Amino acid sequence: MKAKVVLITGSTSGIGLELAGTFARAGFNVVFHGLEPDGAKIARQFAEEFHIQTFYSSANLLVPSEIELMIADACSELGSVDVLVNNAGIQFVSPVEDFPLDKWNDILSVNLSAAFCTSKAVWTSMKDKKWGRIINIASAHGLQASEFKSAYVASKHGLIGLTKVLALEGAEFGITANAICPGYVKTPLVEKQIADLMQSHNISEQEVLQKIMLQKHAIKEFVSPDAIAALALFLASDQASMITGASLPVDGGWGAQ
Ligand code: NAD
Repeated sequence: MKAKVVLITGSTSGIGLELAGTFARAGFNVVFHGLEPDGAKIARQFAEEFHIQTFYSSANLLVPSEIELMIADACSELGSVDVLVNNAGIQFVSPVEDFPLDKWNDILSVNLSAAFCTSKAVWTSMKDKKWGRIINIASAHGLQASEFKSAYVASKHGLIGLTKVLALEGAEFGITANAICPGYVKTPLVEKQIADLMQSHNISEQEVLQKIMLQKHAIKEFVSPDAIAALALFLASDQASMITGASLPVDGGWGAQ
């Protein structure tokens, strides 16, 4: 049987890179994507290590035409996109009165509109095959709010809304759509927030974690990226065919409070 193809946006860093490793180990061919300069090298290394086919795109998710081209190129290089993981995301933290409009627009574009564009671009072929999986990496912030994160929280709540609509429209065609909602995971995105908080509050990293960040988690630890990847791999399986439209927290109990 031909190996399935997974396209993971933002897979040259952080959670996306872990997702790519998990799908590669399971025998998927992987479309890598992201802005990191070593993206093409990462894709080549995975192809050699896991004996799979890979393709790399550096499409800028702020530009819809680049997204369409990425999906078209991925399909012509690897045959199809069977599993789409909308993982790329950006963050900016500021009180609402100072929040720059351009940051708001960029966050909505990368975290939400890009997921609409990728989903739209793979939809017809998933429908024709009567099989497809869309997995959106939302956030605990798709279900709860924190102050100073207006654009991020709005984008992730929106992504959960989009997930539900895709689930309803995909139901009769064997397409499922689900959102994974992680708590804090130590990746470059969060390391930048830690550094900013250390500076703005003039406190140590330990204090940032204890007093601000992990204070949200009932379990006072970071979520490990492989827990998110294992759940995504399950959602991509045939056994998960009845899970759709769900928002699944992996958040150390944050949402239980
Ligand atoms: P990261 O910064 O390590 O990776 C983000 C990826 O997105 C990178 O590959 C980057 O190149 C890509 N990207 C960003 N802007 C882009 C653009 N304009 N065009 C193309 N690619 C772009 O971040 P991460 O922590 O691994 O986050 C991955 C996802 O998980 C994000 O959607 C994030 O919101 C979500 N998330 C992260 C955490 C966390 O604590 N790290 C928690 C909950 C949800």
